[in-house]
Amino acid sequence: MPATDNQPLAQQKLTSLKGVGDKLAEKLNRLGLFVVQDLLFHLPLRYQDKTKLTPIANLFIGQEALIEGEIISHHMTQSRNSSLIVKLVDESSQTLSCRFFHFHYRQAQQFKRGQILRGYGEVRSGPSGLEMVHPAYQLFPRDNTPPLEQTLTPVYPVTEGLGQPTLLKLIQQALTLLKQYPLAEALPPHLLDELQLPPINESLLQLHQPQPEDDLFLIKQFQHPAQKRLILEELLTSQLSLQLLRQSEKQRQAPIFPPSQIANQLLASLPFELTGAQQRVLDEIRQDVNQPHPMQRLVQGDVGSGKTVIAALAAIQAADAGYQVAIMAPTEILAEQHRNHFQEWLEPLGIPVAWLNGRMKAAEKRFMLAQIESNEAKVIIGTHALFQESVTFNRLGLVIIDEQHRFGVHQRLALHDKSQLDDDTHPHQLIMTATPIPRTLAMTAYGDLDLSIIDELPPGRQPIDTAVLNNQKRFEVMEHLYAQCKAGVQAYWVCPLIEESELLHAQAAEVTAQQFKDHWPDLRVGLIHGRLKGDEKAEMMAAFQNHELDLLVATTVIEVGVNVPNASLMIIENAERLGLAQLHQLRGRVGRGHKKSHCVLLYQAPLGETGKARLNIMRDTNDGFRIAEEDLKLRGPGEILGTRQTGGLQFRIADLKRDQEWIPVAKHWAETLAVSDPDIVDALHTRWIGERMDYKHA
Ligand code: ADP
Ligand code: MG
Repeated sequence: MPATDNQPLAQQKLTSLKGVGDKLAEKLNRLGLFVVQDLLFHLPLRYQDKTKLTPIANLFIGQEALIEGEIISHHMTQSRNSSLIVKLVDESSQTLSCRFFHFHYRQAQQFKRGQILRGYGEVRSGPSGLEMVHPAYQLFPRDNTPPLEQTLTPVYPVTEGLGQPTLLKLIQQALTLLKQYPLAEALPPHLLDELQLPPINESLLQLHQPQPEDDLFLIKQFQHPAQKRLILEELLTSQLSLQLLRQSEKQRQAPIFPPSQIANQLLASLPFELTGAQQRVLDEIRQDVNQPHPMQRLVQGDVGSGKTVIAALAAIQAADAGYQVAIMAPTEILAEQHRNHFQEWLEPLGIPVAWLNGRMKAAEKRFMLAQIESNEAKVIIGTHALFQESVTFNRLGLVIIDEQHRFGVHQRLALHDKSQLDDDTHPHQLIMTATPIPRTLAMTAYGDLDLSIIDELPPGRQPIDTAVLNNQKRFEVMEHLYAQCKAGVQAYWVCPLIEESELLHAQAAEVTAQQFKDHWPDLRVGLIHGRLKGDEKAEMMAAFQNHELDLLVATTVIEVGVNVPNASLMIIENAERLGLAQLHQLRGRVGRGHKKSHCVLLYQAPLGETGKARLNIMRDTNDGFRIAEEDLKLRGPGEILGTRQTGGLQFRIADLKRDQEWIPVAKHWAETLAVSDPDIVDALHTRWIGERMDYKHA
């Protein structure tokens, strides 16, 4: 079943359609539409239900509805921005106003008392009862209203200068062509049978033009079999692409790092034993790097699960084999901290550690660059600048990326290409993240990677007690913090981003720090935010680390990785504005030592139901995976992966939150089909990805 042959719609240019010239074609390209077949796969985002009227008496605010009523008045308001108000009454004897801000004189003349207006729009509460602003409407004489629509009206994704009506017309043309040149069925019959999914042509027709006999309720919920079919097909395509990417990686060459005696020396010198989970993940890594193909491994471990030491052990194994290791941290603070750990652990073993940062003196930097270029430096620590500046690695064998959620798929791939070695081998990649990612999401976002999970914390860690308090208690919390600090506790006070401006952001922290200083002059208060220079940040962190400060007032710059085991109290202001994953990250800055730790989440009232539910999850659990699952339910994938990360995850119909249950199914079938029907990969790729993004050549 070679599905690519004989598919005219996959070749037919959009300009062959009626009404499409070069200009319109260009706009369509912007939506990822290049050939007629692409229009068929430009699926409705949602549907408007114009098949039934809602009585005005039953409307609720925020609802989108079709209403119909008799015009009882129309007038222009006299305010500065005059608007046109048309008031209706319907059989439920309730009134509703249609409000138009922009209108032509001619339009204003159309409305006559006694006429019937049928309108579709969102219901709002206006100055005199319910209203719809700029509804789509039609006018009819009384006693002569045409029948309602028989089918749901699809709403398509649009772009600037290209509206619904144009798209609707083009898609209708494409559907007519589809009836003439049906698409070949890309999915094998046994898959369709087993999952009880309908054929492709029927599914496309149903979704673009749902018929009255179709189950409109299911369609609105995206639960219709035709939708399930396309959702599965799209997810399957993404899984197949990821597998392809992974396979092509696995065919590349990489250096082999045999087991290392020196790594065992570090293990023996540590003041602790690895947890079972750390040991298991370390074994997985050791096996990977002992193969001639690049490791592509993502290690997920909750905050404090001990990922750094695993990275160090992997680095030693590479260095021991004569290769260089680049360690990339998302911020300079973290790079600094890693540098301290790695120097402490590796230099006694005779492995030199180098680093690069933005504030080095020219001479120092030249020295470091020379060390790296001559392979004198084995382990090199820095931020992403490691791969942007004039750094020439000599024998780069392993790249470790810490806190992956800050790096997107594309950055990851770009980095990989840049770090190719002369002899056409590629370094191994180890990616570490403390943001637990729900399993289904990880399958999609990181489906090209092998996954290891450190699902155990070092022994003796006590769960962090979390309280959720109204901001009215802010001063009491400050007093409590002061008393605690006087008793030897170190604390963080976090002021999250409230305004989109770095400046205001820093000011919020400055104001809070000043309040503490004013009330308690003997409290040693530090302040850290994004506007400080690198040196100042490093000094501040060092002072806190050495307990020269009691309190560190900070913006969310301390979010990832900062490790000060003596800190045991954390206050987070405006906690309701932060994602759960981010709160979990922040909270993970305490509970790192032997002291019982506490966290206070301050919120600004009033807090809605969801807001309450979210903060209560933080109070009730310390388990990052549970928190991530809840975050996915409440806020969607963008929140967990970070906005940048979602760039490569734009789907035409699938929704990673709504369709989670299908992801493992798609993965399973991708594994089977990649082997049994390799042709399918190209057919699906052309349909769903096409020229939009080429995973295969990414
Ligand atoms: P994260 O996974 O958040 O990066 P770290 O690597 O910073 O965690 O580890 C947190 C703390 O736990 C560090 O002080 C580290 O030395 C310590 N640690 C790591 N592994 C263990 C272990 N197996 N037993 C006890 N302490 C450990
Ligand atoms: Mg870490």
